[in-house]
Order: sequence, then C-alpha cells, then structure tokens
Amino acid sequence: MPEIRKILYATDFSEGSAVAAECARTFADLHDAEVLVLHVISELADSNLLRVHSDDYTEIEHSVERLAFDNMKEFCPRYFKEGSYKSRLEAGIPFKVINEVARTEEADLIVVGTHGRTGLAHVVLGSTAERVMRKAGRPVLTAPCRDEE
Ligand code: AMP
Repeated sequence: MPEIRKILYATDFSEGSAVAAECARTFADLHDAEVLVLHVISELADSNLLRVHSDDYTEIEHSVERLAFDNMKEFCPRYFKEGSYKSRLEAGIPFKVINEVARTEEADLIVVGTHGRTGLAHVVLGSTAERVMRKAGRPVLTAPCRDEE
C-alpha cells in the first residue's frame, strides 16, 4: 500500500458525509497524515443563475460563500481536532473540483461519503462519489451513511 501522507476529505456538510469524516480522521491518526477538508460551492455553477441580473448575482454569490464559510467553521471542529486539518472552499462542479484539488495537492487518498445532501438512499453510490472514483486516478475511500451501516 502506498504511503498516506495527505488525505483529501470532501464534504457537503451532510449527515451522508459524517461517517466519511470519521474515516478520514482515523486514517489520518493511523498514518500521521495531513487532512485537507474541501467543500465545493456548487450552487454558483447552476446555469439558472446566469439569468439573474449581475447585481443580484453578486449578492447571491456573497451569501452562498458566507454560508459555506460558516458551515465549514461549524462542521470541522465536530470531527477534527484544532490544528490537525486545513480547510478549503472552492466553487465549481464537485467531482471535477475534488479530483483537481487532489491532483494539485498530491493527495494520497480521497475520502467521500456514498451519499450527500441529495439523499437518494436507494442509489448505491452518490453521483459525486461515483464520478470521483472514475476519474480520480488515486485511491478513493467511500464511507456509507449511518443508516446504511
Ligand atoms: P452525493 O453524490 O451528492 O450523494 O455526495 C456523495 C459524497 O460526495 C458526499 O458525502 C461528500 O463526501 C461528497 N460531496 C458531495 N457534494 C460535495 C460538495 N459540494 N463538496 C464537497 N464534497 C461533496
């Protein structure tokens, strides 16, 4: 098994990604690895927003970013000890950004939940997890939600 020095954990702040957070922390502790917590702001990639007037768009952009920032601030300390992780917010299409950040950060492992905010418990893998796995080109750990355990 290759050495795990950096773990990219991607979250949409949902319950579906909570078990994945615990897995990321456990792997990080076991391997003394760094954790990078990534959230991708996907709302701004919605093409419907292009029809919004530019002033309104800027306002929406600011409030979406503020919400993501607040969610990150609230989410991380629930799963990771202070000083044991870094966090990052990016905008775009989640699976593309997750794989791009994994590549540029040279992450040794990506950790995602099998489900996210979209729920869809009947689907085996959330679409983000599936797309990340297909394109990652590096190990990906997927963790189920609690009610699937
Ligand atoms: P989904 O495909 O939406 O069911 O999500 C599956 C998993 O992909 C989640 O549990 C997260 O680990 C990850 N994920 C989904 N959306 C995002 C996002 N916007 N930013 C970061 N990670 C995400």
